[in-house]
Amino acid sequence: MKDTFKHKGLRQQLVNILKAKGITDENVLNAISKIPRHLFMDSGFLDHAYQDKAFPIAADQTISQPYTVAFQSELMKVKKGDKVLEIGTGSGYQTAVLCELGAKVYSIERQQELFKKTSKFLPKLGYRAKKLIFGDGYKGLVDDAPFDSIIVTAGAPFVPKPLLSQLKPEGRLVIPVGEDVQIMTLLIRKGLKEFEQHEFGEFRFVPLLEDKN
Ligand code: SAH
Repeated sequence: MKDTFKHKGLRQQLVNILKAKGITDENVLNAISKIPRHLFMDSGFLDHAYQDKAFPIAADQTISQPYTVAFQSELMKVKKGDKVLEIGTGSGYQTAVLCELGAKVYSIERQQELFKKTSKFLPKLGYRAKKLIFGDGYKGLVDDAPFDSIIVTAGAPFVPKPLLSQLKPEGRLVIPVGEDVQIMTLLIRKGLKEFEQHEFGEFRFVPLLEDKN
C-alpha cells in the first residue's frame, strides 16, 4: 500500500478538475487531495484512480465518480464533530472523505463481501468510522439517530421514510432518487414532518437494493 509523489501530483490534478466543474468547498477539495483513491480500487484499475470516473469494485458495485463524491459531500455541509450516516459503504472512499471532514461516521453496507473487505481496509489507512454496519440502509440506524446529515450513495427508487425521521432539526439528507437515472435531491428538515426539497440534476448510481445479502 504505497502513496507516492506521483499519486499526490495526480490527486492535485483531480482537485483542479473538480474545481473547474464547480466544486468550491475547500474542506471537501482538501479531503480529496489527501485520500489515496488508488488504494480503494482493484489493482487492474490503478492507473485510472485519479480520472474523474466511477470504477468497478467487488460484488458488481462501483466506487463513485470523484465529482459525485465531492458534489454530495458539499451538499451535506459537514461540520467538525457532526454525526453523519452513510448508506452504501462500498469501497469506503466516501466514508474516508467524511472522516477527513471531521465527521463521526456511521456507515451501512448490504453486501457482506464489501462490508468485510472495507471494515478491514479503512482502519489500515487510519480512517476510523464510529460504526460500520452490515445491514439494510432503507431502515437507517434508529439506535444511533438523530443525525446531522445522511448521504445515500446508491440510486433510491423513493426516499425511505426512516431516513427522514432520523434527521435532526435542520438536518440534511442527500439522496439520488430515481430508477434508471437519478435526480440528486437534498431534503432539509424544517419540522416534525416538514422538509424543504432541492433538486440538482441527473446522476447515475448502482441501485439501492432491499434487504441484505
Ligand atoms: N460510497 C461508495 C459507493 C458504493 S456504490 C464508495 O465510495 O465506494 C453503492 C453501495 O451501496 C454498494 O456497495 C451497494 O452494495 C450498497 N447498497 C445498495 N443497497 C443498499 C442498502 N439497501 N443498504 C446498504 N447498502 C446498500
